[in-house]
Amino acid sequence: MTGWRERFEHRMMRTLGMPLRKLERGEGAWVWDDEGTRYLDFLAGIAVNSLGHAHPVFVEAVSRQAATLAHVSNYFATEPALELADRLARLTGAGEAGRVWFGNSGAEANEAAFKLARLNNSGGARSRVLALVDAFHGRTMGSLALTGKPAMREAFEPLPGGVHHIPSSIDALEAELDDGVAALIVEPIKGEAGVLDLPEGYLQAARELTHRHGALLIVDEIQTGAGRTGEWFAYQHAGILPDAITVAKGIGGGFPIGALVTFGHASELYSKGQHGSTFGGNPLATTVSNAVLGEIERAGLVENAARRGAELRERVLGLGSPLVAGVRGRGLLLGVALTEPAAAAVSASALDAGLIVNAANDATIRIAPPLNVGDAELDEFEARFSRALGAVAVATH
Ligand SMILES: *Cc1c(COP(=O)(O)O)cnc(C)c1O
Repeated sequence: MTGWRERFEHRMMRTLGMPLRKLERGEGAWVWDDEGTRYLDFLAGIAVNSLGHAHPVFVEAVSRQAATLAHVSNYFATEPALELADRLARLTGAGEAGRVWFGNSGAEANEAAFKLARLNNSGGARSRVLALVDAFHGRTMGSLALTGKPAMREAFEPLPGGVHHIPSSIDALEAELDDGVAALIVEPIKGEAGVLDLPEGYLQAARELTHRHGALLIVDEIQTGAGRTGEWFAYQHAGILPDAITVAKGIGGGFPIGALVTFGHASELYSKGQHGSTFGGNPLATTVSNAVLGEIERAGLVENAARRGAELRERVLGLGSPLVAGVRGRGLLLGVALTEPAAAAVSASALDAGLIVNAANDATIRIAPPLNVGDAELDEFEARFSRALGAVAVATH
């Protein structure tokens, strides 16, 4: 039989590069490839596997609900969907006025948010949507229109119009926000751009200015949400309430689900028939998300993300590697800034050392382990990451 690389090359759509390994199973923060080699997974499927791999709570929820009621159409309500909507309204602080729409991915959540922005048009007077240069919001046509990365967009233009990408500064916000803006969408930490923090005070300024001009403030919490940054949602760090957030990735812990959560008057914008999804909010996905978020609450994993994130930062800086310039991000979404554009080499030698991380950009290593990591995993990480940095430092100097 031909090897998996040849099969991949032959059959899979050429949208991605060759995978690094073929993985077979996982347990906790560890995964095993088809040759039996074990890797410490400090990427967690890009901030998705909140509880790690094959967590008993996840396994139990999938199994139980699959054996009970996996899917119904939108003609019927189910308890798991109602419960998850209540849970998201509570955890986000959207409260009594909060409403939730369920989809199956981050891109779909952002499509729903983009359409929400179009509905905030004040009778046609608001034609512009602001997003940030470098921002990543997804790959469907609408979410791609919000994405501020020209290389991803160019082949697919024309994209839905009216989106303006502005620099991530408070000055740019002040210059661009006026009464013609329907919405501003931002990532609280720009994950795909390289785990880039927003400037100090940015979200507070964005809240104040969008409020003043009647624009919606939409926060893309797809990568930062579900406890990852040491708060349930990263905007909570700024002490503000947005008009809407989008979530996906970590809320399902590996099961596909996404959602748009609206706050206050933004909850009144959509009306009957204006949006929908066949799979969105089905009882299987919402049961799993309830179980994952329930376990994050029960086990204190938001606090653990804050604590372990601070420890991880200290450990990385404590390695004293000449390749490490600093650490960005918060909680367990960290970007190790390198002193040179060696992120591809570092992530490759990390893999050789049995550690999964990724190059979020040329000079940044992204670290996003499961939220339940402890001392043992941090020790393993430190040893392996140190080896990876050492190998690259020797090779380049
Ligand atoms: C991953 C991601 C998306 C897209 O989510 P998909 O599930 O891949 O469609 C959108 N926004 C942010 C911030 C993300 O990290």
